[in-house]
Amino acid sequence: MWSDLAPIGRSASSGGYFRQPFTQPERELSDWFREQALARDLRLESDATGNLVAWWDPPAGVVRDAAAPGRPQEGPERHGLPRTGGVLTGSHLDSVLDGGAYDGPLGVVSALAAVDELRARAVVPTRPIGVSVFVEEEGSRFGLACLGSRLATGATSWDQARVLRDRDGVALEEVVEGGGPGLLENVGCFVELHVEQGRDLVDRGAAVGVASGIWPHGRYRFDFTGEANHAGTTRMEDRADPMLTYAMTALAAAKQARLAGQRATFGRLEVTPNGTNAVPSRVLAWLDARCSSDGALAELVGTITRQASERAGRDGTSVTVTPESVSGAVTFDADLAAGIVADHGDGDWPVLPTAAGHDAGILAGQGIPTAMLFVRNPTGVSHSPAETASVPDCLAGVHALAQTLERLAT
Ligand SMILES: [Zn+2]
Repeated sequence: MWSDLAPIGRSASSGGYFRQPFTQPERELSDWFREQALARDLRLESDATGNLVAWWDPPAGVVRDAAAPGRPQEGPERHGLPRTGGVLTGSHLDSVLDGGAYDGPLGVVSALAAVDELRARAVVPTRPIGVSVFVEEEGSRFGLACLGSRLATGATSWDQARVLRDRDGVALEEVVEGGGPGLLENVGCFVELHVEQGRDLVDRGAAVGVASGIWPHGRYRFDFTGEANHAGTTRMEDRADPMLTYAMTALAAAKQARLAGQRATFGRLEVTPNGTNAVPSRVLAWLDARCSSDGALAELVGTITRQASERAGRDGTSVTVTPESVSGAVTFDADLAAGIVADHGDGDWPVLPTAAGHDAGILAGQGIPTAMLFVRNPTGVSHSPAETASVPDCLAGVHALAQTLERLAT
């Protein structure tokens, strides 16, 4: 499976991936997933947004329900597990611009491999097991992270989403029919496996870890406006240069985040007129901020905004700040996480928070009991071609996921 995916959307120059939603690479990835589902005789469901779920249904007559006799629903070994609905796993196949191979696809491939492992062990599920692929998880095209899972859960409505535009001005409703929730109606719980996007597991010497929750995360557009003018004839003291206001704001964001132990990044800019010999009239800059609590996020963004405004006053420019998406803190299901750790004998798998957003956070936010498994990433680098994972660690992840699915779905 990994070698099937390797060439799709890969840049020959950087070795990174460009798997933006509703483009040719993404269509190839969807087709690949459909073929995998078909080859395994899984029942495929899709919605108008392009989200996919491949279901492994229990054989007729073997469906468990809350009242099934002979099956203890409480007690130490079943404590806290959701009792009805399918057990969903999976992740996403899209990438950031020039992303790595593992973020997303590792969760989808591991989910299919876990189904294979369970079948090889002759495990018979009593609840449906679904493998999901959510579209536009990275928000790399339409700017809203987890777009597919937001629409599938109803966290974002189609009316809100359809008018989102990509960098070329194309609206979401022009590339996809779209529609409301429905795909996840019969989901009882969700377990997403993901490559780790940091070095916690490396530092702890563990191949696999379990997530406790996701830090709150926001994306904010800073619109700096000044006055375009000639780079040669305009005296320095006569300028209203929004690039200077932006530059100080980027430095202030980094300093404030460092001081507070949080994260702030300006990673995208649009400059008008974007000429080497012109003082710009306008700089658009996007801030990505992530903090350990909702309060800390509000405080950090507030401080950066205030410093930007003060600097704008000195530069003769102006700045407005627009939140484009803000996701609150997510706490994953503690019982699900404890069950996964307990499954693994020695019980020494680390449980850690993450500052990266995931579809799992959206499902958890909509009341679906959710857990995440992380697989060690030796470089700790993510959203870059340097992201990696070793084959033994990936197989440990598949095995852990298979055990988790077995416990939840039998
Ligand atoms: Zn991801």
